Amino acid sequence: MGFRESHPRTMKEIELLKELQDIEFLARKTAEEKARAAELRQIIPAPILGHYDRLAARGKKGVALVQRTPTGGVCGGCRMRLATGAYARLLRGDDIAMCDNCARYLLLAPEEPPPPAPRSKARRKGAARAAA
Ligand SMILES: [Zn+2]
Repeated sequence: MGFRESHPRTMKEIELLKELQDIEFLARKTAEEKARAAELRQIIPAPILGHYDRLAARGKKGVALVQRTPTGGVCGGCRMRLATGAYARLLRGDDIAMCDNCARYLLLAPEEPPPPAPRSKARRKGAARAAA
């Protein structure tokens, strides 16, 4: 595929949407949280908000976290395995991804992928080996 007009902030928008969702699904919100939610609604593009609101109106969360498994990504909303291509796109983080099954926006779960060396049992915390 050739170059596409790419907006580097697209995945960021889903991160903002997740933040909005986290606030709006709280049973009780502080004034600060309400202000932040209003602010987020100003920032997030209308089409994304519209889709999110349609799902929210039915009591569904519009953003699902994707769990990384050894066999690929699993949608945290409906537990369906993601298509390989959709998961790869998500890992690249260069486009908005949506679950084919439940139509939620997808965001990678924040945990680190497992270390690539399964033989070493001792885990070093914080020591990042940047040089390969
Ligand atoms: Zn799903």
